[in-house]
Amino acid sequence: MLKETFAERLKTAMDLQGKKQVDLIRIASLQGVKLGKSHISQYVNGKTLPREDILHFLAEALQVKEEWLMGKENQTTGETEMREFKKSSKLDNVLYDVRGPVVDEAEKMEDAGMQILKLNIGNPAPFGFKTPDEVIYDMRRQLTDCEGYSSAKGLFSARKAIMQYAQIKKIPNVTIEDIYTGNGVSELINLSMSALLDNGDEILIPSPDYPLWTACATLAGGKAVHYICDEQSDWYPDMEDIKKKITDRTKAIVIINPNNPTGALYPREVLQQIVDIAREHQLIIFSDEIYDRLVMDGEEHVSIASLAPDLFCITYSGLSKSHMIAGFRIGWMILSGNKRIAKDYIEGLKMLSNMRLCSNVPAQSIVQTALGGHQSVNDYILPGGRIYEQREFIYKQLLDIPGISCVKPKAAFYIFPKMDVKRFNILDDEKFALDLLREKKILIVQGSGFNWHQPDHFRIVYLPRIEVLKEASEKLKDFFSYYHQ
Ligand code: PLP
Repeated sequence: MLKETFAERLKTAMDLQGKKQVDLIRIASLQGVKLGKSHISQYVNGKTLPREDILHFLAEALQVKEEWLMGKENQTTGETEMREFKKSSKLDNVLYDVRGPVVDEAEKMEDAGMQILKLNIGNPAPFGFKTPDEVIYDMRRQLTDCEGYSSAKGLFSARKAIMQYAQIKKIPNVTIEDIYTGNGVSELINLSMSALLDNGDEILIPSPDYPLWTACATLAGGKAVHYICDEQSDWYPDMEDIKKKITDRTKAIVIINPNNPTGALYPREVLQQIVDIAREHQLIIFSDEIYDRLVMDGEEHVSIASLAPDLFCITYSGLSKSHMIAGFRIGWMILSGNKRIAKDYIEGLKMLSNMRLCSNVPAQSIVQTALGGHQSVNDYILPGGRIYEQREFIYKQLLDIPGISCVKPKAAFYIFPKMDVKRFNILDDEKFALDLLREKKILIVQGSGFNWHQPDHFRIVYLPRIEVLKEASEKLKDFFSYYHQ
């Protein structure tokens, strides 16, 4: 059996040459080779293997043979080489650092008995946000009626309630047939990308993004082209950048509104400009609106689909965030506007939806209850409510840290602070996240985890109670008082 893994051989070669990950990234950039820090870190951590061109670069930079790096060279040990099973090369460029190497390290630390302050994942339940009682009661009552598969798109009652919600949001031309339930929005993002993208098709995705969009577009064979959201303009999409990045292979644009990770909420004028661009270039609009009910400061959330009756739009939402039931796995997508131009694509969506049989039926059974009547989430987002007060608190605390700045979020429950990279000499934000974890036992996600291409941001989930946020911000302040990479 082979004694070493690729990661071990790579580390040996790096040690022998006295080269660190940053050195390889720098050499790659000098040679015009595309090698991101997330990629190299995945190779070193044994998460993935490099493509042929990257392997060639690594072998040359580390002065070893490619065959040796890949473990193909005979070891002259006399041992029989066993066949190894590798994951598909389709995963080579797929990243999902929200649950990536830093989280693996946090898990190891927890296994060793340490307590980690987790500010890394938008999962409301562990922070004491409870599912409304009525939702639980109704699910219990219906449980025995939910033993079989439902129709592929979902139960009539659920889709009817979603359709009425679409009417309230003024989303045009929606019938019950245009609504698909999913095991969370996650499943539907995957399905939508798989049904649309041929190899090499381009799709515009924000940077920073919720990384599942980029991952699913890439996995489907498409090319995720990132447009910049501009921190100087409240993190709104940069229209000029979007226009610059459209080619004749661009099929669609994704927006995330309200935004994860920035907490931005796009006003009508910004949405209108995106619609104008999509209209001019005949793009599909995918709008991820899972945080649409978590909007503060008396602002109104506008569904972009309501401004684009002549375009084909898909709007995504669900109960994971607004109803604090992420674990039940229920989300939906609403097809709207000009469905005629997307007839064939819709056939593809139906086919994939049929293939997964249906989404979780007990969770579908409470959609009607959840969407109607009193919305307990409203109490959280007003002054005095937990989400509102926690946002106020974390925002003020962060501004109080020398070298940190941030835009005040208007929605969702994330804040995306900026670090003064010169002051802290930060070259590698994953290293920063690991250092913070090891030294202060605080787990955050670094900006590159959201396809943000500078090492100067990180995301905090401000779902924990103020006492916990206080402890976290004090530790952060202390960390940034001495940190230098
Ligand atoms: N879209 C965005 C912007 C998210 O932040 C998340 C989860 O964090 C999802 C989709 C996935 O949600 P779901 O739980 O419905 O799969």
